[in-house]
Amino acid sequence: MTPLVYVFEEQVRDLLSQAGDVRLLDGVAYGFDDWTVFHAYTEKPSFTPSGHICPCVAMRSDATGFVDEEKLMLQVRSRVDPDGGPIVVLLVGTGVADSPSCRALVLTEKGVAGADTRFVPRRSELFSRNTGLLETSALAEKKVVIVGLGSGGSPIALELARAGIGHFTLIDFDRLELGNISRHVCGVNDLGRYKTLAVRDQLLQKNPFAEVSTMEVNINQALSQVEDAVAASDLLIVASDNDQSRFNLNQMSLNNNKVALYGRAITRAAGGDVLRVRPWKGPCYNCIFSSGLIDGREEEMSQKRQALAILPAYVEEDKINTMIQVGLSSDIAPIANMMTKMALVELSRGIETGMSTVDEDLASDFYVWANRREEAYANWPRMGFKWTHPSILRWYGARVDRDPNCLVCGGHLEEEPAT
Ligand SMILES: [Zn+2]
Repeated sequence: MTPLVYVFEEQVRDLLSQAGDVRLLDGVAYGFDDWTVFHAYTEKPSFTPSGHICPCVAMRSDATGFVDEEKLMLQVRSRVDPDGGPIVVLLVGTGVADSPSCRALVLTEKGVAGADTRFVPRRSELFSRNTGLLETSALAEKKVVIVGLGSGGSPIALELARAGIGHFTLIDFDRLELGNISRHVCGVNDLGRYKTLAVRDQLLQKNPFAEVSTMEVNINQALSQVEDAVAASDLLIVASDNDQSRFNLNQMSLNNNKVALYGRAITRAAGGDVLRVRPWKGPCYNCIFSSGLIDGREEEMSQKRQALAILPAYVEEDKINTMIQVGLSSDIAPIANMMTKMALVELSRGIETGMSTVDEDLASDFYVWANRREEAYANWPRMGFKWTHPSILRWYGARVDRDPNCLVCGGHLEEEPAT
């Protein structure tokens, strides 16, 4: 079959805009499926691509598009030594109406083969399917801070990238463990990596135009660094498992008047809850905590670090692993999905789109979801056909008032403080 080569339109435009003569430029390509498909880059991509790496050489072709293939092959071969593997050659030029054009050749030991070329288009075309539902150009300007890139935070990050959110700060200091894989957006390829960096790479696969910064820090030990990121953001998403960090983030959200979403799964992902804090307009995290709604439930233990913190040092590896709770990815998905929806509603505020129609429906600040008949949900009535009693597998919103005696936000009931 004719090889297929994907090229980033943006990179080709950059190459064409560079002044100077026709020249060879070293790029990099990644080959798949017995060298039948290639992804070619004129510059090193910002994420870690997959595929088998092979050399790529780009050059500007002259106006007529004529290329002496034999001469070019000699030139290229003298430049790179692919060790028997293929070399991808890109010939870029300007086509009709100043649009960039690109031809690709694949050089192997057998000779030169012409390849079919496809452009990975610019941002506007990448998100054309979202048009009307989301205002992609406005969302591209939005900045989101996500704390916790585990089984809850990682799918939220990915969904927001799919929606076209343009700026992310990812905060987590855990690394991807084998036990995380079945519930995480990243796979075995990313074992041992910081979750922040592995998720960043996934995220750039969905939106190559996103700007992603990462912080591999413990929130509670890097308060001012994290608060700077929160202050510069439009929305704070908290999917971390640690109570102390949640209280610290609550304080930052109030200090900087930033809406925050808190989500979590409880024991073995039997269910979960989502809290939205609109600073000074509704209850804060502490108001909800002291109301008892999220008090006294055991949070998920998904990381070895958490088990080690409460077990004596002599405990064997097997015991540690059994401490780490399992929960199905499909049980975490509803919670991540709800948080994504609420995030998009917040970020679309003030913009007339399909998403803003949900705003009035999501009027509660606190939502509960039950996956299974366990724990607090054990005796809830059957789902059946009634809608008058709470059943599992649907969302319940609770109206919670601000606590006038809240130790965190109680002092400012009359008006929000200047920030
Ligand atoms: Zn409060």
